[in-house]
Order: sequence, then C-alpha cells, then structure tokens
Amino acid sequence: MIRIMPILFVIALFLFVFFFIKNRSGFSTCKKCEGKGYWRGLRGEKTICDICKGEGHIPKK
Ligand SMILES: [Zn+2]
Repeated sequence: MIRIMPILFVIALFLFVFFFIKNRSGFSTCKKCEGKGYWRGLRGEKTICDICKGEGHIPKK
C-alpha cells in the first residue's frame, strides 16, 4: 500500500500543473503594453497601462 503514495503525489502534482497552465491560458497578453504592464513615455517616464492596470495580461472574454 505504501507504494501508492508516490504515485498519488505525482498525480496530484500533475493535476496542479495542469490547472495552473489552464488558469494561465485564461489570460491573454495585453496588446497595448505588449505584456509589460507599462510603457515608457517620451521623456522616459513609466506610464502604467490603463487597459491591464499594470498586470500585463487581461482575462479572456
Ligand atoms: Zn497593458
């Protein structure tokens, strides 16, 4: 019975990674700031993206 434990652990890890990737793919890269969350202004100032609010990605609709 003790041999089942590592297998269950691997399955749990696999499911965790699967749902993590699935969750990540629910977001698309912000086109305005190209995923950076901000852009540089004319004088080099950092402007936070107003579309994704600095996140760099937006939830898919
Ligand atoms: Zn953005």
